[in-house]
Amino acid sequence: MPELPEVETIKLSLEKKIIGLSIKNIQILNSKSFLGDVNQVENSKVIKVWRRAKVLGIDLSRGPASSVSRRMSSLDPAVMRQDLSSLSPRLTLLFHLKMSGQVIYIGEKRFVGGHPTKDMLGEMPNKHSRVIFEFSNGAKLFFNDQRKFGWIKLVQTSELENINHGYSNKLGPEPLDENFTGKILQENLLKHQKTPVKVAILDSSVVAGVGNIYACEGCFVAGIDPRTKVKDLTDDQFKSLHRAVQKVLRDGIKYGGSTKTHFVDSDGKKGYFLDYAFVYNRVGKPCKVCGTTIKKIKLGGRGTFYCPECQK
Ligand SMILES: [Zn+2]
Repeated sequence: MPELPEVETIKLSLEKKIIGLSIKNIQILNSKSFLGDVNQVENSKVIKVWRRAKVLGIDLSRGPASSVSRRMSSLDPAVMRQDLSSLSPRLTLLFHLKMSGQVIYIGEKRFVGGHPTKDMLGEMPNKHSRVIFEFSNGAKLFFNDQRKFGWIKLVQTSELENINHGYSNKLGPEPLDENFTGKILQENLLKHQKTPVKVAILDSSVVAGVGNIYACEGCFVAGIDPRTKVKDLTDDQFKSLHRAVQKVLRDGIKYGGSTKTHFVDSDGKKGYFLDYAFVYNRVGKPCKVCGTTIKKIKLGGRGTFYCPECQK
């Protein structure tokens, strides 16, 4: 399942390519993959690409309406205001890749993101293509999804704050946001006193979008046993954990995400964060720091990897 760094990598790649382009055409090959009236989007201009937790957002300005105001005198202040308002976002496309979703952009170059498969580098569309966007410059964006749990939703930008983006809990702070401090992490974690710290940090109301890989790696980098109950953590440990979670997520973005094969970003680099992982998926292997054998346990139903020597 794609985690925050994969979605961030897609965001960074997409914004270089599609901002300023208009959406010429959208083909929906599987009706459940696109929720909303597709006719509203055609001819809209892409003005912003963003991410919140694991949801990718594309803000769109008004399409044909702006050409009407441009024909009028641009010296009239009222019309100038109208022109500006026509560039403020009106509609937003939300993408959630879920288990097997992929975003494949084919323009001058191809970049792919999301669940890795061999066919994401082959002919497009293929049998897993669900939605196809065509842009004003001829580039295409394919939303592929083998298992069809992923979705694209079209919403009014003004309603974004009131929308549950598909999360059951209230969504916590963004882990890489500058407003997300160690103190906030500590306060949010302390609402789950008796929960093992690694389980608590996976809770999206504590911090948004930290998945299993980065929760395991974060505990390792902070030197904290993942089973430690939140109430037993010291102030220093909360601080280390905050720094560690940010570090592993930034490293994840730097290395293009955690997908194991065939991840190619916009510059053709492959994403291999897991080659750099300290503990995740390394059961039975020696710890890269101390040589002790990495252990795997289940915590809150999720596979949890740790070094018994480094994490106490
Ligand atoms: Zn170790």
